[in-house]
Amino acid sequence: MSEFSLDFRDTATAYADKSDAELKEKYRLFKMLNSPFLNSVGTGMTKFALSLGLPVEGMIKGTIFKQFCGGETITESESAINKLGRSRIGTILDYSVEGMTTQEGFDATKDEIIRTINRAKGDPNIPFAVFKMSGIAPLGTLERLSGRKKLDAKSQAKAERIHNRVTEICEAAYASKQPVFIDAEETWYQDAIDRLAIEMMARFNQEEPIVYNTLQMYRTDRLQHLKDVRRQAQNEGWIYAVKLVRGAYMEKERERATEKGYPSPIHATRADTDADYNAAVDYCLRHFKDMSFVAATHNEESTQRLAAGMHDLGIGPNHPHIHFSQLYGMGDNISYVLASKGYNVSKYVPYGPVHDTVPYLMRRAEENSSAAGQVSRELEMLHREIRRRGI
Ligand SMILES: Cc1cc2nc3c(=O)[nH]c(=O)nc-3n(C[C@H](O)[C@H](O)[C@H](O)COP(=O)(O)OP(=O)(O)OC[C@H]3O[C@@H](n4cnc5c(N)ncnc54)[C@H](O)[C@@H]3O)c2cc1C
Repeated sequence: MSEFSLDFRDTATAYADKSDAELKEKYRLFKMLNSPFLNSVGTGMTKFALSLGLPVEGMIKGTIFKQFCGGETITESESAINKLGRSRIGTILDYSVEGMTTQEGFDATKDEIIRTINRAKGDPNIPFAVFKMSGIAPLGTLERLSGRKKLDAKSQAKAERIHNRVTEICEAAYASKQPVFIDAEETWYQDAIDRLAIEMMARFNQEEPIVYNTLQMYRTDRLQHLKDVRRQAQNEGWIYAVKLVRGAYMEKERERATEKGYPSPIHATRADTDADYNAAVDYCLRHFKDMSFVAATHNEESTQRLAAGMHDLGIGPNHPHIHFSQLYGMGDNISYVLASKGYNVSKYVPYGPVHDTVPYLMRRAEENSSAAGQVSRELEMLHREIRRRGI
């Protein structure tokens, strides 16, 4: 491996656009998230208060929502888009409303996703759009399709509506030349998502990468899948585009596998996930001319590895086929340092009504409470910058 390295401890760059007050506020919130006791009391009380309809939304909006979301609407997210843009970081508007169950709800979500594509069109500050299949499709139908079960007439009609919504979103992306990510979800929905994503890539990625599928490298079968789909793309003459993540549903996947008595689809150890993530990054880098990819991670080592690999191959930092991505409010040391060196970097900026983004915020709070979690790393960086500024 090369000597090349980026300094992700450069907190002056990472927090250059944060005032002293903003920095301290972020530190206080992360300190609370890092305390398992305060975290569980806080999330428990919030869920309880919301279930009783108590007016806690204002409090959420002024605290955790502000750190992790752009606003309640696209318009409210404009200041986050501009702020990130000034540091050369792209925004990915992520409409974070979850749990729709009606056909009207799925259509409304699809329409909102198309609005994010229209907002992004022609704006270099918004390089990608994104959607979750579960936001526009009934989970039961996704599961039946993934299990390759025979569908009755009712399910068949629902499957057709899912297909139409996905096609409409991808057509809008293609017409606007605005690339769009399809997020990855639980394994029992993912086969249907993959098949739709591959169909859309084959159709819309003829000239340039427009539709990106997501691969969760904590799955034991994804490295082979990556190679198989790239070969398929090569044979059929379209551009394969992928977002590489480690995967967000590890506990849920393992619990379900145990409960239902099938082998866990998730790697047995953290080291195995890391090895496959890095192998996937290396594979994509080797084939960067004929495919496009995004390293969506807060992991410094994986990010460093890709940047060093690009350097060794003489690939410029802003090659249009290679991107890095993090979540808004997290991994700023990675995003801002990469951007300052000219790499293609973007951040998911979730938005939506406060009440509807609570599941997303609770996941951030819960995943961040573990000792080895992202918050400990964030806190270390924030502390370092507070000391450096002497505030
Ligand atoms: C821009 C962006 C987009 C994303 N999109 C998606 C998406 O579409 N779908 C999705 O599922 N997730 C998505 N994620 C979340 C992602 O999958 C991870 O949960 C999160 O980013 C943490 O992984 P990491 O590489 O950043 O960091 P790290 O902290 O280095 O890795 C943590 C991850 O390692 C894995 N891991 C940890 N312990 C073990 C273990 N004992 N055994 C096996 N594996 C282990 C898990 O996947 C865990 O989340 C996205 C993340 C980002 C930044």
